Amino acid sequence: MSKRDYELNDLVEMKKPHPCGSNQWKIIRLGMDIRIKCQGCQHSVLLPRKKFEKGLKNIL
Ligand SMILES: [Zn+2]
Repeated sequence: MSKRDYELNDLVEMKKPHPCGSNQWKIIRLGMDIRIKCQGCQHSVLLPRKKFEKGLKNIL
């Protein structure tokens, strides 16, 4: 995807869905690393910004 802005608390879709079946994540921490929380099961993961941007599919 082309470079787009995302902000804290934005809902995003990643290229790879979470194993729980949900593909909506909320950005809950924005810094050098980005923490996103799965909206299906509330599991959160920490990703380096580069990896996050690579896996990002859509900003909702
Ligand atoms: Zn999940």
